[in-house]
Amino acid sequence: MKHRKLLMIPGPIEFTPEVMRAMGMPTTSHVAPSFVDCMGQALERMREVFLSPAGQPFIVAGSGSMAMDMAACNVIEPGDNALVVNTGYFSDRFGAILERYGARVTHVKAAIGNAPSLDEVEAEIKKANYKVLTVTHVDTSTAVLTDVKGLAGLCRKYGILCIVDGVCSVAGEELRQGEWGVDIVLTACQKAIGVPPGLALLVASPKAIETFKNRRTPVGSYYSDWANWLPIMESYENRKAAYFGTQAVNLVWALDVSLEQILAEGMDKRFARHRLMSDAFKAAVTALGLKQIPVSADMAANTLTAPYFPAGVDGSVLPLIGEVGVILAGGLLAEIKEKYFRVGHMGVVNASDILSTVGAIEAGFAKAGYTFEHGVGLAAAQAVLLK
Ligand code: PMP
Repeated sequence: MKHRKLLMIPGPIEFTPEVMRAMGMPTTSHVAPSFVDCMGQALERMREVFLSPAGQPFIVAGSGSMAMDMAACNVIEPGDNALVVNTGYFSDRFGAILERYGARVTHVKAAIGNAPSLDEVEAEIKKANYKVLTVTHVDTSTAVLTDVKGLAGLCRKYGILCIVDGVCSVAGEELRQGEWGVDIVLTACQKAIGVPPGLALLVASPKAIETFKNRRTPVGSYYSDWANWLPIMESYENRKAAYFGTQAVNLVWALDVSLEQILAEGMDKRFARHRLMSDAFKAAVTALGLKQIPVSADMAANTLTAPYFPAGVDGSVLPLIGEVGVILAGGLLAEIKEKYFRVGHMGVVNASDILSTVGAIEAGFAKAGYTFEHGVGLAAAQAVLLK
């Protein structure tokens, strides 16, 4: 009997054996030559994974919220106008962080499951002198995917810094920081990057770094201040040890392994695999008669799916699915929290994970008394996978 369950939540996710082995290696000094090489290489690889050849990468111990904090505090000065393209829970959080550093924040918000249109955002941009626009690429609370390419284009047109919360997208959804002209892309390591939680990751454009260097006021956070971290990152990339705060040594070893695996697959192939896994899973969900939160297919993320429970089923089905061996997540958005669930399918996810998950959902739903033709979800997923 296998006791290990499949973790299909929107982060943390399943990790590769090679990544887990790196986590278990004897911890080196954070200034050991071997670690300096590893950190330097991981920084270089981040540029390739973020598709940001001119970007400045940062690797700092912390979670995704810490990366959001670092993005906000280094470019915002008290009184700056910031526009939040709001698609849910994590957009609200970005607004709160920006306010904490003194920004005057405006939200452009859409109804649940929808994202503000480019026209709506542009109309708001014209009303004030915005310095920064933030957007959540994939809002993990709703599985809504935003048009980062379009929004970054608007930011360039109006000279606004574009900050993308890519915590639930980087290394899964198509995101081309350099080509699309995004100024800051941030993420955390526990999602599609494929490393156990604990690293805040960020890549800043030359324009974002210049904005930071031209500040008139000190950065409001001591730990997140780029004045502390920029020389450290530059030094490691030049293969010289440097100290501001102790690096999360084993996590960085694991990150370097995972970035190598990501690049070995290739970014375009990786984006395509995420689309295929998502299409297969969403076909199953639809065949089982479930509706999803995103209002249309082009607004639905490829890294996770957020289906509503069907009539007569509620969150008590999730432990039943867990008993079959697959862990899923409940709802997160306060207004509809009890009405839906979330399934993550990112990182190393493969066809057998998708089929196992659909099978476990069918088993749980059947036990919960939901009536459907057994196997209909599996057949729909398989049809997409075998196409
Ligand atoms: N933004 C998004 C889109 C997220 O999904 C999350 C975490 N689920 C965060 C930010 C915050 O990351 P963390 O929990 O690692 O602080």
